[in-house]
Amino acid sequence: MTVPQITLNDGHTIPQLGYGVFKVDPEETERLVSLALETGYRHIDTAAVYGNEEGVGRAIASSGIPRDELFITTKLWNSEQGSARARAAIETSLEKLGLDRVDLYLIHWPRPDLDLYVETWRQLETFRDEGLATSIGVSNFHRPHLERLLAETETVPAVDQVELHPAFAQTELRTYLDDHGIRTEAWGPLGQGKYDLFGEPAVSDAAAAHGVTPAQVVIRWHLDHGTILFPKSSTPERIAQNFDVFGFDLTADEVAAIDALDRGQRVGSDPDTATF
Ligand code: NDP
Repeated sequence: MTVPQITLNDGHTIPQLGYGVFKVDPEETERLVSLALETGYRHIDTAAVYGNEEGVGRAIASSGIPRDELFITTKLWNSEQGSARARAAIETSLEKLGLDRVDLYLIHWPRPDLDLYVETWRQLETFRDEGLATSIGVSNFHRPHLERLLAETETVPAVDQVELHPAFAQTELRTYLDDHGIRTEAWGPLGQGKYDLFGEPAVSDAAAAHGVTPAQVVIRWHLDHGTILFPKSSTPERIAQNFDVFGFDLTADEVAAIDALDRGQRVGSDPDTATF
């Protein structure tokens, strides 16, 4: 099974499919990330606020996988924005992960009410220049937030990690990201299980046609759109299943039927108004 590699705007590459650990219990993280690495995943998406970077780090250390074969993302939490706090935050994350660099470091939310994300982005540019993060990007940024970064700083983010699933396909934002060389990462790629995505005929019919599960169909749909994703599961069989998505292809009609499920339905917070 070969996971496609996507080239970022800074020339580095990222495995298109990874394993995300939001809400993976810190007590279980080492075991589940180890299982994911044994399954073949090489891209892990965590964040300081998930409280499980240490478990990710232990799994990496015990895996024996060469560092340059792994792609590790973590994120700067909102309370740590601003140049003074951000350095301590990345140093803490690196220590917990047991790494001297992450492959990708993200500003987790723009928090426009704080008006610190431009200053914070300049600090991430410094972290990249110092080698603490190979690539830098943002998460939950809307077009106006990105426009400020592009106008006021030197670096176009490598990625924008946003809520994205069939009922919330982000087509307008995606066009902007594509036009500016920013790769789209999907969080909540399975809708976080918060609506009956797997019961939608567009999904369940394709699953039946190909002899796969609805989750595998949705993952394939993301891959076909060029999206980078890292579905989360704490269930060993699903961790394996979510990686076993390269043995079938959706037809153009099946992709179009899933595209038609878009109804602008968020399952998470709106970045313009989130204040956590
Ligand atoms: P997902 O859309 O990946 O959904 C996870 C849910 O789907 C869990 O309840 C899981 O259940 C279930 N599930 C997983 N695989 C299957 C399957 N094959 N069949 C049926 N159900 C399945 O949501 P996430 O929010 O976790 O998003 C993925 C990742 O995105 C996160 O882990 C995190 O890394 C990132 N993220 C980033 C955010 C940001 O603000 N930047 C916000 C949220 C997430 P179970 O675990 O019980 O198996």
